[in-house]
Amino acid sequence: MTWKTDYHIHTSFSDGKAAPEDYIAAALAAGISEIGFSEHLSIFKENQTWCMNPDNVQNYIGYINNLKKNTKTIVIKTGLEIDFIPGREKEIGQFLDNLILDYRIGSVHYLGEKTVDLGPEFYEGKNIDSLYESYFELVIGAVSSGLYDIIGHCDLIRIYGFKPTFDPELLYRKLARAMKKYDVTFELNTNGRNRPLGDFYPDRRFLHIFREENVPVCVNSDAHFPSRVGQYFNEAYELLRSAGYTEMAVFNNRKRKMKPFNLLNS
Ligand SMILES: [Zn+2]
Ligand SMILES: [Zn+2]
Repeated sequence: MTWKTDYHIHTSFSDGKAAPEDYIAAALAAGISEIGFSEHLSIFKENQTWCMNPDNVQNYIGYINNLKKNTKTIVIKTGLEIDFIPGREKEIGQFLDNLILDYRIGSVHYLGEKTVDLGPEFYEGKNIDSLYESYFELVIGAVSSGLYDIIGHCDLIRIYGFKPTFDPELLYRKLARAMKKYDVTFELNTNGRNRPLGDFYPDRRFLHIFREENVPVCVNSDAHFPSRVGQYFNEAYELLRSAGYTEMAVFNNRKRKMKPFNLLNS
């Protein structure tokens, strides 16, 4: 059986809809070998209902570590999905350095004061070309900050299907080169299939660029419901294989190892 990891999971500690135990049961049923929790954390944005309160982080880590200790049927990892806020790298780093995590997912949800994924209104009347450029610039900022091990949904700006007038290939090339340079992993995030976009992040047309630049990858569901753990993973691994990938990144205490995946045996 193929070893499958799912490192991007939201429970009721942030905006997920069930307790960690429910996701573990769902992961076992979905044939996942390793499940990692990654609650939303946005250190400088107050009162965001979708984020965990920073005061609750140690409690969350303790809770997951306890599950880790007492669960023999599946490997459990402790992570966070932390917003990248440009100009605040130092404070984010200081906050995170006190936490013992298996990995840190860095994500860009905010473009200015607003998040890009809370409704299509954000895009209406705006210059989509500039939004794309600004979004990729921020993601490259997150990559080169050195704060993160994995970048979440690296082209979330596609979520409502607004397209730039130019071919964004060069943006993906720049991003992939930065990821290689700073030794950061990207995720094939299957949750875009459940959003208006109707497909994975990143854009499948550019997956070969990440392969050519030799950027490590992992497959994640970004599940907010237990039923979505490991969703569309066979298709995701097949897609990665067709782009030339044969191995995926696994994390332990923020150390990355590569593990082969073999669809033929799944
Ligand atoms: Zn996210
Ligand atoms: Zn997420």
